[in-house]
Amino acid sequence: MNTDRFAGAAAGDAAFRSGRRPSRRTVLKAAGATALAASAASALAAPAYAAEEETEDTARDFIVIGAGFAGVTAARELRARGKKVTILEARSRVGGRTWTDTFGGQLVEVGGTWVEPTQPNISRELKRYNLALEEDEPLDRMFLPTPNGPKAFTPEAGGAAMGALFDKFFEGSRQYFERPFQPLYRADLLQKLDRMSLRDRLNELKLSPADEMLINGQTAIYSGGASTDGALTMLAQWWSLAGWTNQGWSDTQRYRMKTGTVGMLTAMINESKPTVVFNAPVASVAESGGRVHVTTRAGKTYSAKGVVVAVPVNVWHTIKFTPGLPAAHTAAASQGIAVKNSVKIWIHARNGQGRVYGQAAEGGSPIPMFIPYKKTAEGQLYVGFSVDPKLDATNVAQVKDAVRKLGVDLDIIGVRAQNWGAEEFSRGGWAFRKPGQLTSLYPDVLNQLTSRITFASGDIAEGWTGFLDGAIESGMRAAQLANGEM
Ligand SMILES: Cc1cc2nc3c(=O)[nH]c(=O)nc-3n(C[C@H](O)[C@H](O)[C@H](O)COP(=O)(O)OP(=O)(O)OC[C@H]3O[C@@H](n4cnc5c(N)ncnc54)[C@H](O)[C@@H]3O)c2cc1C
Repeated sequence: MNTDRFAGAAAGDAAFRSGRRPSRRTVLKAAGATALAASAASALAAPAYAAEEETEDTARDFIVIGAGFAGVTAARELRARGKKVTILEARSRVGGRTWTDTFGGQLVEVGGTWVEPTQPNISRELKRYNLALEEDEPLDRMFLPTPNGPKAFTPEAGGAAMGALFDKFFEGSRQYFERPFQPLYRADLLQKLDRMSLRDRLNELKLSPADEMLINGQTAIYSGGASTDGALTMLAQWWSLAGWTNQGWSDTQRYRMKTGTVGMLTAMINESKPTVVFNAPVASVAESGGRVHVTTRAGKTYSAKGVVVAVPVNVWHTIKFTPGLPAAHTAAASQGIAVKNSVKIWIHARNGQGRVYGQAAEGGSPIPMFIPYKKTAEGQLYVGFSVDPKLDATNVAQVKDAVRKLGVDLDIIGVRAQNWGAEEFSRGGWAFRKPGQLTSLYPDVLNQLTSRITFASGDIAEGWTGFLDGAIESGMRAAQLANGEM
């Protein structure tokens, strides 16, 4: 398994770093606007938010709350149907849990990164905007945990060892996820399985300690901490979507957008030209008198015929909904779907150890996964992932120590860490369902609150939940629902 699943993230907000902090109620009327430049590089270098008057309240058809991939997709689809759309975004940038920036002189992603041409929504969007992919260079070595400490493997040997174990781990998934884009198609087979954690499955397999160590670091980090936290059916659905092979799964973690994720968002916004209001965190959403009224924390109310709520599920409980959220949505919001402690750490190292990958056994290091990125003028960039709340990922000494536990000694020049769990407009990182959530929350969690209030999020996709593809899928679906087409 290519463990690069969670590498990549973009540093600092371009608007802030450029010193051109947008005003509190900056409005981007993307019609011909320069707010998001055509290329990622220019968007990063010179964001220019054109302050224009937003659409008249009475003329607005839809409000989309949140300018991540799900929200921007929903807005584009509604604009394509001739609707007047305003996006209200809490932050001063688009992208949400994706964020393209620079670090060590390279374009990096602070959040979601890898895409794969067979992911249907990604594939369609790449073609639509003629966006190129860049492939990660192959690994030189892998450091994997053994009972005697970290050991260097060739990528072929390490990949084959983990692949064989994952084949065993996901045995049966061709049956229980016969149609992986319709996860409940074989609901009859899922009732017991969905209650199993990844830890339950590891225990069931009775692997030798040496074998278990090769994969339990991954089952733990995807789950957000311990293998007990994540559902077997979540990882098994990803495996099934990737074609039930280790190669397919590895391929989902190999390609990045050359322009950065912001390149795709920019293309979507430039094509559809919604009005985007930044720095506008929403406090309440209320339906009355045949309209929906959305009030920001600053007290400004916007109204429209319909609303798409495209904020992370972990954030739903911070917004007051009238009428209140139904049972499945309330449960999803209180349990959370995205993992709560999720830190992505960019590491710039002087000596570099080449293209080395490191992975710990469960509990073996506060940074259990470590992946090489590009060479720089001074050394090499690496990206690490942590779900350990005790790690101070901005502390070079702590990062160095955590990476050394994987068998890799680095001369660190600098680190840049992003704690997605601590971000108030994310409250978590990648989505990873907990045991029981698939069968207890779906399909109800996909329903509208009322015919005028619809939800979109990569956290509740039917296919690639927790991926960019899933966020786009959810935005497409929400636009159809909001427009009364489903
Ligand atoms: C570290 C990390 C690594 C990942 N790696 C990958 C990967 O390699 N490949 C992949 O495909 N996916 C990856 N993902 C997952 C992917 O990034 C997400 O699934 C996707 O970005 C979710 O998009 P979204 O639009 O649903 O949510 P978000 O991107 O979170 O967008 C929600 C938007 O709502 C806004 N918002 C929140 N609250 C409010 C409010 N009250 N008012 C107004 N606006 C609000 C937010 O600011 C944000 O812009 C990763 C995620 C993380 C965190």
